[in-house]
Amino acid sequence: MAKWVYKFEEGRASMRNLLGGKGCNLAEMTYLGLPIPQGFTITTEACTEYHKNNNALTQEMEDQILEDLTWLEGINGKKFGDVNDPLLVSVRSGARVSMPGMMDTILNLGLNDVAVEGFAKKTNNPRFAYDSYRRFIQMFSDVVMGVPKSLFEKEIDALKAKKGVKYDIDLDTDDMKSLIATFKQIYKDNQHEDFPQDAKTQLFEAVRAVFRSWDNPRAIVYRRMNDIPGDWGTAVNVQTMVFGNMGNTSGTGVAFTRNPATGEKGIFGEYLIDAQGEDVVAGVRTPSPISQLEKDLPECYKQFMELATKLENHFHDMQDMEFTIQEGKLYFLQTRNGKRTAQAAIKIACDLVDEGQIDEKEAVCRIEAKSLDQLLHPTFDKDALKAGEVIGHALPASPGAAAGKIYFTAEEAKAAGKGGRGERVVLVRLETSPEDIEGMHASEGILTARGGMTSHAAVVARGMGTCCVSGCTELKVDEEKKVCELGGYTFHEGDYISLDGNTGNIYKGDIKTVPASTNTGDFGRIMGWADKYRKLRVRTNADTPADAANAVRLGAEGIGLCRTEHMFFNEDRIPKIRRMILSDTVEEREAALNQLIPFQKGDFKAMYKALEGRPMVVRYLDPPLHEFVPKTEEDMEQLAKDMNLSVEEVKTRCDELHEFNPMMGHRGCRLAVTYPEIAKMQTRAVMEAAIEVNAEEGYSIEPDIMIPLVGEVKELKFVKDVVVETAEAVKKEKNSDIKYHIGTMIEIPRAALTADKIAQEAEFFSFGTNDLTQMTFGFSRDDAGKFLESYYQNKIYEFDPFAKLDQEGVGQLVQMAVEKGRKTRPDLHCGICGEHGGDPSTIDFCHRVGLDYVSCSPFRVPIARLAAAQAAINNEKN
Ligand code: ADP
Ligand code: MG
Ligand code: MG
Repeated sequence: MAKWVYKFEEGRASMRNLLGGKGCNLAEMTYLGLPIPQGFTITTEACTEYHKNNNALTQEMEDQILEDLTWLEGINGKKFGDVNDPLLVSVRSGARVSMPGMMDTILNLGLNDVAVEGFAKKTNNPRFAYDSYRRFIQMFSDVVMGVPKSLFEKEIDALKAKKGVKYDIDLDTDDMKSLIATFKQIYKDNQHEDFPQDAKTQLFEAVRAVFRSWDNPRAIVYRRMNDIPGDWGTAVNVQTMVFGNMGNTSGTGVAFTRNPATGEKGIFGEYLIDAQGEDVVAGVRTPSPISQLEKDLPECYKQFMELATKLENHFHDMQDMEFTIQEGKLYFLQTRNGKRTAQAAIKIACDLVDEGQIDEKEAVCRIEAKSLDQLLHPTFDKDALKAGEVIGHALPASPGAAAGKIYFTAEEAKAAGKGGRGERVVLVRLETSPEDIEGMHASEGILTARGGMTSHAAVVARGMGTCCVSGCTELKVDEEKKVCELGGYTFHEGDYISLDGNTGNIYKGDIKTVPASTNTGDFGRIMGWADKYRKLRVRTNADTPADAANAVRLGAEGIGLCRTEHMFFNEDRIPKIRRMILSDTVEEREAALNQLIPFQKGDFKAMYKALEGRPMVVRYLDPPLHEFVPKTEEDMEQLAKDMNLSVEEVKTRCDELHEFNPMMGHRGCRLAVTYPEIAKMQTRAVMEAAIEVNAEEGYSIEPDIMIPLVGEVKELKFVKDVVVETAEAVKKEKNSDIKYHIGTMIEIPRAALTADKIAQEAEFFSFGTNDLTQMTFGFSRDDAGKFLESYYQNKIYEFDPFAKLDQEGVGQLVQMAVEKGRKTRPDLHCGICGEHGGDPSTIDFCHRVGLDYVSCSPFRVPIARLAAAQAAINNEKN
């Protein structure tokens, strides 16, 4: 018989995959002897099984749940659903990795019309009992049955307005009773049946709801954004309730052992007296700093501090803890390695090394590679900031600087911002909720009127590395009318506002930002360790000297891909390339190309100089020629004049270049096969540039010439012969014995399949995984956006294969090509230059298949260096 349910006392931290993060840490804390309300965990395997079993719990699961429930009743001395002293539980989801806010918790489960009376008598606190019941009805209806939360909140607000009070806490027992009646009616109106009175029915419904929620749309989006496989499933924790809302010796809070924004050591947290957990997270009331607890309940504070330190020393990492105090007794409800900004992650990792808690390799693995992106984010320009007008101040919830146009809903932010119209957006909300995730992603910054440092907005923003200022109580937001007021000003949708996530200051208008400096001490230390342990080299994709210099500053060891066509689009060059394209004869073409040599050579020289002697792979002309042809009337006329042709003739020749499927048309090495003059010109430019720069600077550059889009060894050989002939001629003219290398891009499946033959001619391979993915899947990256969303929703694909390499299909081609190629040529140099080169999971793959380097955009170079080190360290462990 399979075991689907584990008591907390049966688990350990090492059972994360089975028990989920929350469950395994509740087990570990139980093992360590911390005060934990007891309970049990239904495994992630049960979740997977539930989905396989047509979304139903099996009999075996139900039996095991009931068995452990009986045990839980025993140790608490209470009965589930009892009329005198009922056992109440929470039902909490918890996947292997935390997915904040993705799946909702149900509190106070087990209450019904009769039990609530017993509960009131037993606790001698009717207001509290009825409040618990109304909270439960509300949560159960919303989370389990999908009855909109707002229906309930409206009633609460209406009642508060009627009574003229501000907080929920001001409502009395009779108010709670009347809310319960109203809530049950709302439930009935929506569900067409009465609110379930049987506690076991409530429990099974809740467990099913957690399992179901694994596949809700926001969970799917979150998984895709965070590389979490869909088949992991979530566990469910059933835990005895403790109550932080039993008066002034009770409370609930969230705390970190180090500051999650800066990494500074020391307890950092917030709590609310007389409140239930949800109140802190939802940002309904603005909480007090944890230091206040020392004044309110000194004994609890002392115990809390001791146990927090114990947990940090046990897990050797910064802990994020939830606790509740019930009538002076402290309980821990959760601990986990806390989410943190990249800046904090780096400081904490270095501090832990210095404290002797972890070693360098562990420190390198502690930093999420992608998060380094945050450190490359802008800050405000100092002078612009001085001139700026501060109009408000709130909590510095997530660092960075943001300036942009105000939008009031997540949808509008999504449409306007990154990935949409590309405007800089500041999302202004009363508070955020999980539905807002995509809108938050599209924004430069987030400003909320409510909520503390641990509110949804704050946690999610830090995770994304997006600037966030939260809990701005003076801010008046009317989301419906799309206006807000702050510091005496009224802002409408589209007005500019600026946020400083480091100070919490809010500024009027659009304040200039500048790129961040990344050379802080701790950052340098981590990168130094990364460089020490990684095996893969890291290069960059760059076409301009500025990009190349920037990449070198960020640690690039050369250029893996220099796209030469970008050099042709310049205003002074495009007319010449157009002449070349529309030329009728070889002589005309050569004449046009000869005029381009000085430009191209000059560019190469500048690139080589920016690289200070580092290698550069130069890819020969690749795009379909029609991309260069004139499109406007004016350009056509100019070209006609240049070429002594009529406008009509120019138009006809341009039309002739039209292709039905240009991405699979006359491009790549096919251009050099039809017009060898192009390859000749480029060879002359690159060879002369290298020879001259070597002479001028004392470098010993050996040009790497890359022929794109090869699918057949003979076409490579054909172009290679052209290159060699010219290169040798240049050497002779210049009296130079410079070495050079000719290789190819592997981006057509046929090239991968015949890599052993290709390697007879190619000295190096560079995997152009953009085209390779496109041609392997048979869909283009320019069109895939239109239908991939449906593929995610239907769980056909879990991620965008253009962002993260499809290891199973495309990866197989890569691996095969490396193996076959090296059979022919053991020292074949292999790298990757597609967009994937900066993606950590792809980098791990590249390490495993034995590539020599990855090449990515300049800003991803630090990410790639770190990811390469993590790949080396993790694969050594396994
Ligand atoms: P999340 O993963 O979204 O933080 P949790 O399961 O941790 O969800 O719970 C949400 C809130 O409910 C937290 O504040 C937590 O402390 C509180 N909570 C959960 N279980 C209990 C319990 N058994 N007794 C008291 N409070 C609880
Ligand atoms: Mg929690
Ligand atoms: Mg390509």
